[in-house]
Amino acid sequence: MKIKLQIVMESEDGSEQVIQEVTEIERGSLQPENLGLSLTEAKTLLQQVQQTLVEQQVAEYEQQQDSCEHCGGKLLHKDERTIVYRTLFGKLTLPCNRLFHCNCQPQPTRTFQPLANLLTERTSPELLYVESKFASLMSYGLSVKLLEELLPLEGQINATTVRNNVQAIAQRLENELGEEKDIYIEGVQRDWDQLPRPDLPLVVGMDGGYVRYYDSESKQKGNFEVIVGKSTKADGTSLRFGFAYGYLDDIFVLADDEKKPCPVASKLYKMMEEFETYIRNNEAMIPNYGERWRYGESISSSFVESTVNQVISKRFVKKQQMRWTPKGAHLLLQIRIQVLNRELRRKFQQWYSGLTPFPEENIPLLNAA
Ligand SMILES: [Zn+2]
Repeated sequence: MKIKLQIVMESEDGSEQVIQEVTEIERGSLQPENLGLSLTEAKTLLQQVQQTLVEQQVAEYEQQQDSCEHCGGKLLHKDERTIVYRTLFGKLTLPCNRLFHCNCQPQPTRTFQPLANLLTERTSPELLYVESKFASLMSYGLSVKLLEELLPLEGQINATTVRNNVQAIAQRLENELGEEKDIYIEGVQRDWDQLPRPDLPLVVGMDGGYVRYYDSESKQKGNFEVIVGKSTKADGTSLRFGFAYGYLDDIFVLADDEKKPCPVASKLYKMMEEFETYIRNNEAMIPNYGERWRYGESISSSFVESTVNQVISKRFVKKQQMRWTPKGAHLLLQIRIQVLNRELRRKFQQWYSGLTPFPEENIPLLNAA
């Protein structure tokens, strides 16, 4: 038996045209091992369909860009360049037209490349998502091996590019946090009263773990602390959070070096002082654990210990030869927390609204990783 796979393009008038012979699949007498697609066939298929689909999409896009958006006049073609675009189904070299701007409007440059301007990131969102997800669960090297084994990516990705991509995504998450909300330091009671109250009871636990440190520039070694925590609402839903203590420490070191008070450090000290005062003033309100136990509420710290294990130990400590910088650990931790909270895909969908949604809740989490 022989099956031919072709890509057929249907034009707007309904006519069809074969634009690509994808592959031929031949099968002899039925055996368990030749029933259905092999991994190699599936990878070839994905790579070729991706190549053809992208070529067609790019050709259509380039065609739409050949007239001036202001006056509709035809734009002059200068030359054709190429850009490399990395996707989940292979690295592609795409033709990219360079056009002269129309002179009906003043322009800062004489020429422009519509496709290069559209694809400012040269790695597809889908690949960035998958790289981030796996790198948060296992080492960069293992993530590369896994993706190369299952997808048509052999020799196209390496641990360094995956790490750089993941750090860029984590930095994007960090940048979205915006300015620190230090309303408890600067605000007044009236503003604080307007803050939303979480549904009680809300259980929050925090703990730390040590991660081995190595700085390749200064050759310094040691340990630094990573703080993680988990909050659980009355309905049982929980969220994890965390940060590398050493990463924030840099701020204090910087303040010492410059011999002037660092605004972040002094705010933090002030907040801690206020927190201590708050605890003392509210001593009578601190839960009676015996009473809690009788009402079946959480009194154990084991959920925090398991969070430390889940968030830090499995990815940052398990392999003793792995060493981290506070920044590297902090950034990867942000992705790992998004993955464990099952929020990473939703984040990507906020950034790239055309990304196919899928509910992360339905996907097993690879807890063993
Ligand atoms: Zn024009």
